[in-house]
Amino acid sequence: MASIFGHCVLGATLGKLLLPERHHWPYWVLAAACAFLPDADVIGFKFHVAYGSLWGHRGLSHSLLAAGMVAFVGTGLCQLLRRGPTPSPAPKRLWLLLFLATASHGVLDAMTTGGLGVAFYSPFQSERYFFGFRPIAVSPIGVKNFLGEWGVRVLRSEVQWVLLPCLMALLAQKLLRRFATPQIAS
Ligand SMILES: [Zn+2]
Repeated sequence: MASIFGHCVLGATLGKLLLPERHHWPYWVLAAACAFLPDADVIGFKFHVAYGSLWGHRGLSHSLLAAGMVAFVGTGLCQLLRRGPTPSPAPKRLWLLLFLATASHGVLDAMTTGGLGVAFYSPFQSERYFFGFRPIAVSPIGVKNFLGEWGVRVLRSEVQWVLLPCLMALLAQKLLRRFATPQIAS
């Protein structure tokens, strides 16, 4: 896996790109959480679930189908719980954000240097996939293993290949919005 840092940065960035208004910040946080959620499957290691199985790490939980389900449930819950005068995003846009945020998890994992590949098409296909371009150092499982040289290596690669591209995308969005906003002559 990539680290919680890389996944959450990408999820929150997608949130800001799709729902740029500042009052939508809770959805940026939700997108960050969705981006990390698939790694909840590491609990399977405690119960001796085989890594390469359907329910194993990077299996069904990392699939596009699971991303669609998370987005569906998340959008439904947001509709149920919405309150206050702040306008909430259109359900289709919110679903798209939560889907992209959750699916982004597998995309980052498929760019890491270790572990098994990602079962994007589970449960219809059991094949695990990596991309041809894999610049992100794989993150260890467990906080204890992360503290040290390995964790530094992971964070360094994620700053380069996740944080910087995200900052560039946000900067591009800011510039586009500034130039696209009609200027009122005084
Ligand atoms: Zn993962």
